[in-house]
Amino acid sequence: MKRIYMDNAATTPTDVEVVKAMEPYFSLKYGNPNSIHSFGQEAREAVEEAREKIAHLIGANSSEIVFTAGGTEADNHAIKGIAWANQKKGNHIITSKIEHHAVLHSCQFLEKHGFKITYLPVDKYGLIDPKDVEKAITDKTILVTIMHANNEIGTIEPIKEISKIAKKVGIYFHTDSVQTVGHIPMDVNDLGVDMLSMSGHKLYGPNGVGALYLRKGKKIVTLIDGGAQEKNRRAGTENVAGIVGMGKAAELAKKRLNQGKEKEIVRLRNKLIQGIMNKIENVRLNGHPTKRLPGNANFCFEFIEGESMLLSLDMEDVAASSGSACTSGSLTASHVLLAIGLPPEIAHGSLRLTLGKDNTEEEVDYIIGNLPGIIEKLRALSPFKENWEGLN
Ligand code: PLP
Repeated sequence: MKRIYMDNAATTPTDVEVVKAMEPYFSLKYGNPNSIHSFGQEAREAVEEAREKIAHLIGANSSEIVFTAGGTEADNHAIKGIAWANQKKGNHIITSKIEHHAVLHSCQFLEKHGFKITYLPVDKYGLIDPKDVEKAITDKTILVTIMHANNEIGTIEPIKEISKIAKKVGIYFHTDSVQTVGHIPMDVNDLGVDMLSMSGHKLYGPNGVGALYLRKGKKIVTLIDGGAQEKNRRAGTENVAGIVGMGKAAELAKKRLNQGKEKEIVRLRNKLIQGIMNKIENVRLNGHPTKRLPGNANFCFEFIEGESMLLSLDMEDVAASSGSACTSGSLTASHVLLAIGLPPEIAHGSLRLTLGKDNTEEEVDYIIGNLPGIIEKLRALSPFKENWEGLN
């Protein structure tokens, strides 16, 4: 059996059709889209066509799409761009404790420059309570930024309810949609957002390209100074091949969503979750049972830690990820798992398996068949098992 890739939340394989669409923009159609000759114009047309496809995927107008170098840049641009543009109006921003570091670290940067940030708590499933957003608003609040779905535990947040609250008091609302665009049906007008971040490599497009949806009439301060590209909203010669790839990926994602293909991923994901929960003891499913991303399965296994599971799975040709990250020799527990109330020793035993469009039933069965043995072996070696207080 070939290697099994179940780390689609980290990055998705680039679709072969996407690679095919990109190729001519390296070798034949290499013009600068800002040049007036025919080479430039064919590149310009391709960029604009991609912009339309991405807009179509999220129900936006193509003029509201600003290309960036990825999801991280889109988040930085939205948050810092609104902060700098509105600093005379107020200096307060509301976000949550479970955001991606692209959002959290942007907020922490702004704190060093005089902004006040409220980091809202979440419940045991990782859900934000819209009432907490309402209560946190002050007359200095300029922005609410809450992610559409969490990248670790997959919980989908009540964005519509939160955006209504922000709109009622005239505050900007941004959502980090990096994990949802192309994976669940969505419409920016239905969601009621002013800004939304996307990333090419999370929807079977290439790395290093992303986009910010910026609602018509909303102004941000650009973070990248230079030429007048992207209507003065983001300077720099466009990543034409990358943009073409992201556009193709958006077109294919729209087609899959129209056909309801995500339901098959949900079916396999549920089979995986049930298989693991039935066969292994002392395991906990992280994230909301139903309000979750189609492909996300995230567990904590007691008595063992994530990295040893990842290494054992890798030896069985399965690629997964964990919330614990080994930084300079010491394990740090995921801020998301701590925020849902898990003690650090439980949070260390997390395993994230994220399915994508190419995973098969056979692969799911293989993991259900092999993971119990891996867990048993690791637990037999575990120094933590004695005196364990654990979850139960
Ligand atoms: N936001 C979320 C929720 C993510 O999952 C990621 C990537 O993992 C990012 C932002 C950053 O996106 P990029 O890798 O395109 O910079």
